Amino acid sequence: MLYQPKASHFINGEYVEDTAGDVIDVVYPATGETIAKLHAATPAIIDLALNSAKAAQKEWAALSGTERGRVLRKASDMMRERNYELSVIETHDTGKPIQETTVADATSGADALEYFGGLAGSLTGEHIPLAGGDFVYTMREALGVCVGIGAWNYPTQIACWKGAPALACGNSMVFKPSETTPLSALKVAEILIEAGAPKGVYNVVQGYGAVGASLITDPRVAKVSLTGSVPTGRKVYAAAAAEMKHVTMELGGKSPMIVFDDADVENAVGGAILGNFYSSGQVCSNGTRVFVQKGIKEKFLKRLSERLANAKIGDPMDEDVSFGPMVSENQMNIALSYIEKGVAEGARLVYGGKRIEGEGYYLEPAIFADVTDNMSIAREEIFGPVMSVLDFDTEEEVLARANDTEFGLAAGVFTADIMRAHRVVAGFEAGTCYINTYNLAPVEAPFGGSKMSGVGRENSKLAINHFSEMKTVYVSMNDVEAPY
Ligand code: NDP
Repeated sequence: MLYQPKASHFINGEYVEDTAGDVIDVVYPATGETIAKLHAATPAIIDLALNSAKAAQKEWAALSGTERGRVLRKASDMMRERNYELSVIETHDTGKPIQETTVADATSGADALEYFGGLAGSLTGEHIPLAGGDFVYTMREALGVCVGIGAWNYPTQIACWKGAPALACGNSMVFKPSETTPLSALKVAEILIEAGAPKGVYNVVQGYGAVGASLITDPRVAKVSLTGSVPTGRKVYAAAAAEMKHVTMELGGKSPMIVFDDADVENAVGGAILGNFYSSGQVCSNGTRVFVQKGIKEKFLKRLSERLANAKIGDPMDEDVSFGPMVSENQMNIALSYIEKGVAEGARLVYGGKRIEGEGYYLEPAIFADVTDNMSIAREEIFGPVMSVLDFDTEEEVLARANDTEFGLAAGVFTADIMRAHRVVAGFEAGTCYINTYNLAPVEAPFGGSKMSGVGRENSKLAINHFSEMKTVYVSMNDVEAPY
């Protein structure tokens, strides 16, 4: 076993095992071999994790924000120092090329720990003066035990994007990674404890959906933050709502990217590549509906195909490789089935789209042209390297078509016309928008979706509001006037 952790779960500052839990095979997507075997959490493990998180939270919240921040910033430094080691694990968990994981995973997690560590000391309430000398002050308080549930595409990043703001506010966390990629979050937990977080402040339990489901409804839990698909989001949100728990929902998308005739074609092609094929297309905010104005359509498709031919597909541990396998056989088959549907529904496959035979779950990046709005490949989230190119004539028409979806995660526009860029962005029904670029998610900026794509925002100062609540304290400086 190449990456067998000491045990499946990390609870109360140490690795814990319970072999009675269902077996989780960790499969390296580049070869299909099993590289570790873990066990899903049993009710006893879930209980242990929640009790540890509950017990640790009060002590953690009693520290000053500066003290909590110091721990997070130390963890951030440790993640950067161990970036290569963590990137190798992320690559084995997900199949993403080491060329990507060394710049986008542990580093992004470290950014979140550094940013929220920096904010922790400045989290305050406010003073509100009232008539007659009375006043109100507000206290920003932690929520308590927060549950994080992650998708499999960015396991290190998701563990940190949820953990860093939660811990900065004085909460503790129980994090459940996707069973497809269970290794990376264990390392985040190890590092946080080594950096000085009290035992129990950040715990990881493994499991399938049922483990996540039982965490959500537990009375010890105050908040649930999910990164996952819309169908899972509906279930998790409903279960959390029944118990009136706080939620953050980072869900799926089918985001539009609009390229006007006057756009810089190389930049637009670059944006379309980043927004469709990075991480083999397994990115929630991908701009998979690329609307190209008719005047530059053929030029755009030509340059796209030319540049895509430079992608180096292969062993993700090879530093020259820029395009790795899909995360699993299942996800590859989902993408392949959409490619078949695209062809069957009359779209023109202009590039790739074939399974690469041999070991591992490799698929050529696929570009469809002449896609129309009602085709399955233009309506449904594929979560694979399948780009749909659609034609359009006018700004008004394309904006209406771009918004004609239940999703609202992201949207982008490429144009040289500054007025049009801002006008189009103002019209987008999406939480995260881009002008002349695509898919950047710095920790300083809010990230999240509108419509069915989510509730709440991750990153930025806004995330603090989703991991804390205000207590209002009315102070009277006068006698109490009662009517009788
Ligand atoms: P899923 O929705 O299948 O799963 C997400 C997580 O929820 C997994 O850990 C899963 O466990 C767990 N889960 C499943 N059912 C339940 C349940 N009933 N109660 C509690 N937890 C449950 O998503 P994927 O892992 O397949 O990830 C891909 C999806 O994630 C895409 O739709 C993508 O768009 C979205 N995503 C959104 C992002 C964003 O920030 N908006 C970022 C990244 C991805 P298990 O896997 O063990 O079933």
